[in-house]
Amino acid sequence: KRQESLAKAKAPAVTRDGKTFQIVANVSGPKEAKISFENGAEGVGLYRTEFLFMNREDAPSEEEQYQAYKTVCENMKGYPVTIRTLDVGGDKPIPYLDIPAENNPFLGLRGIRYCLQDTKLFKTQLRAICRVSAEYDVRVMYPMVGVIEEVLSANELLRKVQTDLNKEGIAFSKKMKVGVMIEVPSTIFFIPQLAKELDFLSIGTNDLTQYLLALDRDNNSVAKYHSPFHPVVLEAIREIISRSKKAGIEVSMCGELAGNAKATNLLIGLGLEKFSMNSPAIPKVKEMIRAMNTSDNQTDFQIDSSIRTLEGLKKSLGE
Ligand code: PEP
Ligand code: MG
Repeated sequence: KRQESLAKAKAPAVTRDGKTFQIVANVSGPKEAKISFENGAEGVGLYRTEFLFMNREDAPSEEEQYQAYKTVCENMKGYPVTIRTLDVGGDKPIPYLDIPAENNPFLGLRGIRYCLQDTKLFKTQLRAICRVSAEYDVRVMYPMVGVIEEVLSANELLRKVQTDLNKEGIAFSKKMKVGVMIEVPSTIFFIPQLAKELDFLSIGTNDLTQYLLALDRDNNSVAKYHSPFHPVVLEAIREIISRSKKAGIEVSMCGELAGNAKATNLLIGLGLEKFSMNSPAIPKVKEMIRAMNTSDNQTDFQIDSSIRTLEGLKKSLGE
């Protein structure tokens, strides 16, 4: 029985009409990667590296990072692994980093903004990732990008790191793919520019919801309106997917919405083809996909324009 369910978990997610969707995992370290692989993940779409930096006195060395990233790849048995660079600040404070007290930490020195200021720390992480790229199919992803200049600066540092490695005779892949999270609403409006500089985009619905609606993702007093099912968030997702396709850049989703089986049909109706989620959600989402026919979905699961309220939308999805 267990053998049977394992085989089912690992089988690809193919609809009744034969369309295959890619299901990958969100992980925070090697152990989770192993569990995700067993649960049927076809790679890692989001490796949250900040956990390696938390609950300690100082930053992990290049070697320690290299070992951790490599182990995640080993546990994924050669499937592609998307490593997100350090996403600090906001709700993820790290005491040994140089982040001043801020009135609005979620609007402050977060993610890539911090890394571009602490270039020593950032370059160490990029070096570790590049070294793993010599042996495994890794991709690098920048969090919290809000303006194109951040991408240009980060890519310039990445090239510097690669030039250094080259000079030192240390192996890396020149073809490592680079992408960003789409989680700051401004990015929706410069996807063609992003497509020129990058290989892929990944929608972070947790922060995208927070910033689109100006609702703190952890504040219970406003939680009632904080939902990735909010019609405005879904419209944004629709735009992101359609603009990405138009610009010819790969787009996936790694926010919590991607792992919500009640959203699977809807997201496929919006054109999403790659889903990254916490591993316990994988079997259920694969089941949803196997039960559906995409030709039905095209019409049935477009956002019904009569549903303009969060309540109406939730009701229609059986939330
Ligand atoms: C997101 O914002 O949707 C996301 C996946 O990133 P995190 O939850 O780590 O902020
Ligand atoms: Mg985020």
